[in-house]
Amino acid sequence: MENILYLVIPCYNEEEVLPETAARIKKKMSDLIGRNKVDQKSRVIFVNDGSKDNTWNIITKLHKQDKLFGGINLYRNRGHQNALLAGLLTVKDYADMVISMDADLQDDINAIDEMVDKYLSGVDIVYGVRSSRQRDSFFKKATAEGFYKAMNSLGANTVYNHADYRLMSRRAIEGLEQYKEVNLFLRGIVPTIGYPTDVVYYERGERYAGESKYPLKKMLSFAIEGITSFSTKPIRMITGLGFFIFLVSIGMMIYSLIRHFMGETIIGWTTLMGSMWAIGGLILLSLGVVGEYIGKIYLETKARPRFMVEQFINEKE
Ligand code: UDP
Ligand code: MG
Repeated sequence: MENILYLVIPCYNEEEVLPETAARIKKKMSDLIGRNKVDQKSRVIFVNDGSKDNTWNIITKLHKQDKLFGGINLYRNRGHQNALLAGLLTVKDYADMVISMDADLQDDINAIDEMVDKYLSGVDIVYGVRSSRQRDSFFKKATAEGFYKAMNSLGANTVYNHADYRLMSRRAIEGLEQYKEVNLFLRGIVPTIGYPTDVVYYERGERYAGESKYPLKKMLSFAIEGITSFSTKPIRMITGLGFFIFLVSIGMMIYSLIRHFMGETIIGWTTLMGSMWAIGGLILLSLGVVGEYIGKIYLETKARPRFMVEQFINEKE
């Protein structure tokens, strides 16, 4: 088994951390290459996600100093997930395994050894899972954990407490390439690719320098993206609600008829009461049914691969 390792690191305005990140990674890579764990053709590729600061200059300088480092420059800021995908798909033909990680050193680079070991033992996807969230603020911890739970209950099977620190074999990335959707939520897609997987636990550190590029606003839109790009369950909820209200309307109808025959109502109340609930319920129900079809169209337009062949054994003669 060949073992060329590529690291893919998306960077958005990371001039403050890049030099330190590069230095630490260089040490790690020399160590791995020295011990023959990975091939000396292994590389570190920084993906510049349309930074407005000096990030790209630093990357080109690193590249000139040391052939270990390379870079991909995106035209403009397309967001973390797209930058990551650009990196994975660009390097996959040169690498046997690719590890994606953040530029800010929050992902412990010492977990790379274990990831590589797992790959060498035949695993295609190794998830980096944080062992604890002690260092996160209460707010970040609560929102993040709530998010994972909501995602899973809505039908997207994400790996709990795993961000985008992971190793993928070349064939796993080739599988990922077959997902043609534009709204990309890697964390949800990768587990659906198949192939043997494993996890590596690591302690998530603090950002080395600079500020988070994921303010609350981006985090929220990321969460909504994650849910809506994986699940049409919200539509089903509308259908359910419509059905429920329609049932209530039958109850209301009976109730108002009873009141009517007891002579306790003014003229018109019974009809109004019954029809109000019935029409409301029917409208929601129809909306849900229309939504179901839109949901189908939505899933079809994604044109996701329907299967992934693990192995094909066949005697030709
Ligand atoms: N990032 C990116 N494009 C963006 C936002 C972030 O490439 O639009 C990169 C960023 O440079 C970092 C990684 O994504 O390498 C994670 O971002 P950050 O550390 O700011 O997120 P946090 O750890 O706070 O969730
Ligand atoms: Mg970070």
